[in-house]
Amino acid sequence: MPYKKFEEYNIRITDEVKERYKNIIEGLGEDVTRDGLLKTPERAAKAMQFLTQGYHQDPVEILKSAMFKESYDEMVIVKDIELYSLCEHHMLPFFGKVHIAYIPNGNIVGLSKLPRVVDVFARRLQVQERLNEQILDCINNTLKPQGVAVVIEASHMCMMMRGVQKQNSITTTSGFRGQFEKIETRNEFLKLIGK
Ligand SMILES: [Zn+2]
Repeated sequence: MPYKKFEEYNIRITDEVKERYKNIIEGLGEDVTRDGLLKTPERAAKAMQFLTQGYHQDPVEILKSAMFKESYDEMVIVKDIELYSLCEHHMLPFFGKVHIAYIPNGNIVGLSKLPRVVDVFARRLQVQERLNEQILDCINNTLKPQGVAVVIEASHMCMMMRGVQKQNSITTTSGFRGQFEKIETRNEFLKLIGK
């Protein structure tokens, strides 16, 4: 087999979380012994470990593993990066798109590393505002570019499915460092991502 993808879960954590999910499901008035729910606590325990794997990953290492000396000093934009995260207030998903730009200062970074940095911070319990800052600061402190910009547009299930039940509202956050604090540079970036 030329390529094989496999998932590995910590057995002790899976067992512990599984038992707690059983209690939660029972607490909600369901019968955990019925056919469809029999393996649900274990599946949920594994899913949550996957969705919070970012706690055990180092975004700085990811960026440093693919930094290259390069004299290119125009704006680099990666837009429409898919985002899936969990709001820390309700543990419900929020999802949308991340747009990142930076202006190199002697170093560029492998483009696929920017979406990976997004994933590392997104696969934790989050609020959109902090997620935005963490991605911004990580790129700024590691790559030390002339400037960096991060915009996140996301829909929050905790707003859509419960509470105010606003189906179509999108929350936008943004952060700018260095050159992007200048209005012309910022506007050029916003125009290029269609804002
Ligand atoms: Zn929420």
